[in-house]
Amino acid sequence: MYKLLTTAVTTVAFGKLMYDIISTIYNRLHQKDDKEPVDKVIFFPDDTVSCRKYRNGICKDVNCRMSHDNTSFSQLITIFEQAKRSIDVCVFVITCQELANVLAEKQKRGLTVRIITDSEQEDCSGSQLYKFRAAGVRVRTDRTTFFMHHKFAIVDNSLLVNGSFNWTKQAVTGNFENLLITSNKGIIQQYQQEFNRLWEKFDPGKNLKNL
Ligand SMILES: [Zn+2]
Repeated sequence: MYKLLTTAVTTVAFGKLMYDIISTIYNRLHQKDDKEPVDKVIFFPDDTVSCRKYRNGICKDVNCRMSHDNTSFSQLITIFEQAKRSIDVCVFVITCQELANVLAEKQKRGLTVRIITDSEQEDCSGSQLYKFRAAGVRVRTDRTTFFMHHKFAIVDNSLLVNGSFNWTKQAVTGNFENLLITSNKGIIQQYQQEFNRLWEKFDPGKNLKNL
């Protein structure tokens, strides 16, 4: 009986040891992945329009006139598609339907998407704000006569996208634009603080006189 008990205890202890070792290895690998630094710049316009069907795995057209390669736009879309928890966006205008669709879809899937944009864009032609509100995305506008001229987004509080790029179709296919993408924590923290500050400042429940 004593032997049996000893064997059982030894087996459990060995099992726990193995579990701890495997957990440690898994966590180390996982942490390493999380910390893989990102520092790059993408430029617009793309030479060709990225094929949305191809990105979704449903374009089999070998003569497709759109790009099946990695374009700046496909890289940008991928950043938002890979978001796991949150997307904060602070931009002047959003009329690009594909970008809006990705953000709306993420909110529907349970992520927290917050958008700050210029108040004059509420009624502009092609504005996607109605789509965000229908999806449950919280949108706040600057409510001032000045421009909300930022053009940045923060994904999962761990990736920053910032540059000249306006979130319009024209910025993708026509304009000369740049976007810097970084996982630099110090930089992201400053942008996140500013986003949070503006988010509170433009809380519609707050008195306009305090703006
Ligand atoms: Zn295609």
